[in-house]
Amino acid sequence: MWIYNSLTRKKEVFKPQNPNRVTVYTCGPTVYGPSHLGHARTYTNFDFLKRVLEYHGYTVRHVLNITDVHDSMIEEARKQGILIKELADKHLEHFYLDLEKLNIEPPDVFPRVTGHIVGIIKMIQTLIEKGAAYEKDGSVYYDVSNGKLSGVKLKEAKTGTRVALDKYEKEEVVDFALWKKTEEGEEEVGAVWPSPWGKGRPGWHIECSVMSGMHLGETLDIHGGALDLKFPHHENEIAQSEAATGEKFVNYWVHSGLLTVEGKKMSKSLRNYIEFDTLVQKEFDPLAFRYLCLTAHYRGELNFTWAGLEAAAIALEKLYDEVSNWDAPGKIGCAEYENKFNELINDDLNLPEALALMWKLVRDRRLPTAARMKTLIQMDRVFGLKLAEVEEVEVPEEVRELVQEREQMRREDNWTAADEIRGRIEQAGFTVEDTEKGSIVKKV
Ligand SMILES: [Zn+2]
Repeated sequence: MWIYNSLTRKKEVFKPQNPNRVTVYTCGPTVYGPSHLGHARTYTNFDFLKRVLEYHGYTVRHVLNITDVHDSMIEEARKQGILIKELADKHLEHFYLDLEKLNIEPPDVFPRVTGHIVGIIKMIQTLIEKGAAYEKDGSVYYDVSNGKLSGVKLKEAKTGTRVALDKYEKEEVVDFALWKKTEEGEEEVGAVWPSPWGKGRPGWHIECSVMSGMHLGETLDIHGGALDLKFPHHENEIAQSEAATGEKFVNYWVHSGLLTVEGKKMSKSLRNYIEFDTLVQKEFDPLAFRYLCLTAHYRGELNFTWAGLEAAAIALEKLYDEVSNWDAPGKIGCAEYENKFNELINDDLNLPEALALMWKLVRDRRLPTAARMKTLIQMDRVFGLKLAEVEEVEVPEEVRELVQEREQMRREDNWTAADEIRGRIEQAGFTVEDTEKGSIVKKV
């Protein structure tokens, strides 16, 4: 399998450190507001990558971090008059649901920064001991002149110039904050911890070096994130980790392309900022968004338009329709298609062409539906469009009646009775799922 490594800027043969196991770390959300479509695309793209690895038989250990201390967290918590922990909890719950709606396999660990302060302080101490960081007025900075800063020529770096902001501009290659002295208003929102340098809180970049090391080891097979994190965030992660451990930090850097809206960068000031919820409110199947992501290569830009999403929704519906009356998957699939599919996903995840291949298979009426279904379900292990669930389920009359009875109880807010009926449905070997479109009954 070939994968494009952003660090070397070329496609490389993928070879994990352990032949059966792959470690993947992806930078997760700063949980100060709801997810937008850009986030949804990034997490979906990395889900495709994870599924391709699993398709090839690797066991993937995936860590996605949650940034619950950050300039933006503090600003928003102050605005709302709540603790950063409360703000994080509120948005996290929602974030997990968003992942589920997009059929994203949950990562193995969702580490939170606030749960790793001790480890963060420890790494900062190591960096000071190794001469890669220094303390100044109760804050600690990474020294870009002494430490390693990959990919950026040191002569461009403004050594001795410091930046305390979590996000800063591309031109500023400066000493960045690892630990920030407590500022006004941070204590009230619960963003203060004791440290050897006095009261303060971690800067943004250090968290990923600490949490990836703690949960996955010093050298990662794959580190991913959205393209706009490449600088300074990922550069800084490399610098910190390699200075602290003396080991190579990441073998393959993978970056997901950005999402634009009607050809423009998504931003609040342009009023083209679309939250993931808006899509659900407009009653789009979230899997239609997943389908839309498949139509663009993960490294390229995805230009989001409502018309484009509508087209994706129609295509997905058509796909479900096509296969709904096919025979159950047989023992033998369509080898020719499976080989071609392998070739495409192994070429740096060429999913747009793999999707086109899937449509070719769907329409290839020379082949029996049982064989096509077998191959289709195999392809869907990567696509994640829930094609295996399309087949119609025979629901016995008595179960159907129970479901109706339960819906009636739910409408009357009689939750005890509704739960009791759910138990009886489950005893009959079925489960019931509540969706916006009503109850869906499935076989256990
Ligand atoms: Zn990160």
